[in-house]
Amino acid sequence: MQEFPHSLSPLLSLLLAVLSLCLVVCEALLELLMISQKESERLENLTVSDIKLPDYAVITYAVCTIDKNACGWGGWMLEGTFTTSDAKTVILANGDDPLPTVTLQICPNCGGTIVRTDTAHLYDLAGQADLRMECR
Ligand SMILES: [Zn+2]
Repeated sequence: MQEFPHSLSPLLSLLLAVLSLCLVVCEALLELLMISQKESERLENLTVSDIKLPDYAVITYAVCTIDKNACGWGGWMLEGTFTTSDAKTVILANGDDPLPTVTLQICPNCGGTIVRTDTAHLYDLAGQADLRMECR
């Protein structure tokens, strides 16, 4: 093991103490961010009656073509899920409300960035889809 000069020893001890304290604080913060086992089980056992269902969803055909190592993958990407809203909030131009949705623009094959094509489709469970598409 390498010996450090005497003048560095107190400094190294202080540095180690600070790093140890940072590690303890980071671990405590991580525990605050993590959900409990009970909460995890509750979330995993949600049923359709516990979840707000979308009135419509929009998907777009996307391709993996722009990154340096693009793989050429093509497939449907979820743009979003929405509920119609009588309150007509100002979140969307048409007054509807977006629901939490995974919409990552990442290629499932190579991890590259995917690009939206002009082909989009709306799956409507509430009717009158053409009215909502006019606001897009
Ligand atoms: Zn790709």
